[in-house]
Amino acid sequence: MSRPRVVVAGLGDSGLLTAIHLARADVDVVGISSKPGLVSGQELGLRLARPDAWARDYRIGFERFRRLDGAEIVHDELVGLDVEAGRVRTRHRTIGYDVLVVATGVSNGFWRRPGFQTEAEVTAGLGAAHDRLADSASVLVVGGGAAAVGSAHQVATRWPDKSVTLAFPGERALPRHHPRAWGVARRRLERAGVSLLPGHRADLSAGSVADEITGGPVAWSTGQPATEADAVLWAVGRVRPNTAWLPPELLDEHGFVRVDPTLRMPDVPGGFAIGDVAATDALRTSARNRADRLLARNVVAHLRGRPLASYRGRDRRWGSVLGPEVDGLRVFAPSGHPFRFPAWSVDRVLQPWIVRRGIYGGVRRGR
Ligand SMILES: Cc1cc2nc3c(=O)[nH]c(=O)nc-3n(C[C@H](O)[C@H](O)[C@H](O)COP(=O)(O)OP(=O)(O)OC[C@H]3O[C@@H](n4cnc5c(N)ncnc54)[C@H](O)[C@@H]3O)c2cc1C
Repeated sequence: MSRPRVVVAGLGDSGLLTAIHLARADVDVVGISSKPGLVSGQELGLRLARPDAWARDYRIGFERFRRLDGAEIVHDELVGLDVEAGRVRTRHRTIGYDVLVVATGVSNGFWRRPGFQTEAEVTAGLGAAHDRLADSASVLVVGGGAAAVGSAHQVATRWPDKSVTLAFPGERALPRHHPRAWGVARRRLERAGVSLLPGHRADLSAGSVADEITGGPVAWSTGQPATEADAVLWAVGRVRPNTAWLPPELLDEHGFVRVDPTLRMPDVPGGFAIGDVAATDALRTSARNRADRLLARNVVAHLRGRPLASYRGRDRRWGSVLGPEVDGLRVFAPSGHPFRFPAWSVDRVLQPWIVRRGIYGGVRRGR
C-alpha cells in the first residue's frame, strides 16, 4: 500500500520545520516552494547591513537539510487548490495530497515576497538592498515593530558615519512587546547614535509606501515637517497574506487562512495551516511559538484517526529584536527581559548546536 502523501505548501520558516518533522513519519512529504531554498524573513536588519553574515544562517539550500533527504522538493509557485479533488496546482504541475499543510506566509515590504525566484535573483535582491543603504549618507527607518527597530540598529552599528533615524507613531516602539523590551532597545539604539522620532505617523494617503527602499522626503500625518533622507526603509507592518492561490471561502475577512485550534482548516478535508498565514490568534504567533512540532503530531494523529492537540497563542511578541550585536544576541522573553547569548557563543553554540542541530536536525556545510 502506498504511503499517505503530505504536501507542504510554502517552505519558509514554519513549512520547512513542519516538513522536517514529517519526513521522519511514515508519510511521503512533498514540499513546494517558490524560493530555491530557505530564505528566511527573520533578522531584516542583519540582512540589510551584513548580507553575507545573514545568509550564513538564514539562507540555506534545501539540499543541505539532512532530514529533508527523503522529501520531494518542488521549486515552483502554487496557483490553485481544488478542495474536492484534493489537489494543488503549481504553475507547471498538479499534485494530489492526502494531507495539505498551508504555510505560504505573508508579504511584507521588499524583503518578503511570494513570487518565484532563482538563486541568482535572490542574490541580486540581497545585494541591491545592501548597496542602496551603503551608498546613502542618511537613512530613515519608518515603523515601530521589530523589523524597523532591528534595521535601524544594525544600519547604525554597521555604518557609524551615517545619520540614522527611526520614526514611529506611538510614544514607544515595539508596542506588541512587553514595555521592558523597548526600554532595553531604546538604550541600545541611542548608544548606536540612532535619532528617535516618536509620535511620527507617516502619511500613507498618497500611496507613498513602497515595496522597495525609496528616497525622501517623508510627510507625516501627525503634523511635523517632512523628513528628508537619502534612503527610506519602510517597515510599517503592512503584511498581506500570501493566499491569492486559495479559494476565498477558506479565508477570514482579512485574507488569512481560517483554522480551528488544532490548526485544521475547517472546510478542507486533510487541510492544515501554520505560520504567519494562519489565523490562529490575534498576533498569528504559530511560527515563532514553534507550533510546527504540534502540527506534525496532529497530521500523524489525523492519519491514524487519533485525537488532535490544540495550539495556544501568546498575547505578546518575543524573540530577537536587535539582531546580533558586538556583545552577543539578545532574545527578549514575553516578560520583556532580555537573555543575552554572549558573542562567542552565537557562532560556536547557538547556531551550530541549538539551531542547525537541535532545531533543524542537521545542516550540511554550505559551498
Ligand atoms: C525557529 C524560529 C525562530 C523565530 N524567531 C523569531 C524571533 O526571534 N523574533 C521574531 O519576531 N520572530 C521570530 N520568528 C517568526 C518569524 O518572524 C516569522 O513569523 C516567520 O518567519 C514566519 O514563517 P512562515 O513560514 O509563516 O512564513 P515565511 O517564512 O515567509 O514562509 C512562507 C514561504 O512560502 C513561500 N510562498 C508564498 N506564496 C507561495 C506560493 N504561491 N507558492 C509557493 N511558495 C509560496 C514564500 O516565498 C516563503 O518562502 C521565528 C520563527 C521560527 C520558526
